[in-house]
Amino acid sequence: MNILEKLKQNKILLCDGAWGTFLQAKGMKPGECPELWNITHEDEVLGIAESYLQAGSDIIETNSFGGSIFKLSQYGLGDRVIELNKAAAAISRKAAGKDKHVAGSIGPTGKMLLMGDVTEDELYNGFREQAVALEKGGADIIIIETMSAVDEAFLAVRAARENTKCTVAITMTFTKTPKGEYRTMMGVSPEEMVTSMKNAGAHIIGSNCGNGIEDMIGIVKAIRATDKIIPVLIQANAGVPELIDGDTVFRESPEMMASFILELIKAGVNIIGGCCGTTPEHIKAIGKVLGR
Ligand SMILES: [Zn+2]
Repeated sequence: MNILEKLKQNKILLCDGAWGTFLQAKGMKPGECPELWNITHEDEVLGIAESYLQAGSDIIETNSFGGSIFKLSQYGLGDRVIELNKAAAAISRKAAGKDKHVAGSIGPTGKMLLMGDVTEDELYNGFREQAVALEKGGADIIIIETMSAVDEAFLAVRAARENTKCTVAITMTFTKTPKGEYRTMMGVSPEEMVTSMKNAGAHIIGSNCGNGIEDMIGIVKAIRATDKIIPVLIQANAGVPELIDGDTVFRESPEMMASFILELIKAGVNIIGGCCGTTPEHIKAIGKVLGR
């Protein structure tokens, strides 16, 4: 069954948790290209996907967050976009089998249209190349995540919609202003996100990263004030990262995150997962609230 059909049955679906911090825990060093691990450390990457499936996830992401030509070029791997993204999706599909969903992850390019870093065509083509490769590798969803610029996100959603048959999800990263409103780094509000991403053709809209679980409740309410129907996806960090003795620490325990899930559901969320610092234990604890 298509994920949108499942959501229509009023099911709350469970996504997975962090990949980046998990790869580091598995020995990836700073300066290494995470996506190259899809070739050089296939078993470790597969192990991450499998641990989230065992934790109960309905949707497994892929190790391809930085898999655009723009990011891979920084490692001299700009000519391996198709290979690395296809491998990423194939690994997650191998773990997920036929019944679970594979969401091909696409992160920001690091290029700003506003600054003239790239043209719209270059961005669109870059997103198209990545999305098509993820679908070829076995993704049935494309998830464009951690976005803060509306123009970049718009092109990414359009590129995925126009060139794949995948369900397309988009999440942006917000922080709370001193006034208590939510804005991305580029000043986008949740309301603006909903309007523009629906125009781009997104099937699922939400927020990931930046915040712990509590602030996500306010973000869901802001999204729901604009649109009551579109499926909402939330992936909170295990708290705001804190730097302690040179290490990045995420303080929210699985129990702490789980304690906010009912409130998040009441606010109108449809898919829940985790971002930085979350582990299979966090996903398991959230799943327990969902009756898994
Ligand atoms: Zn994150």
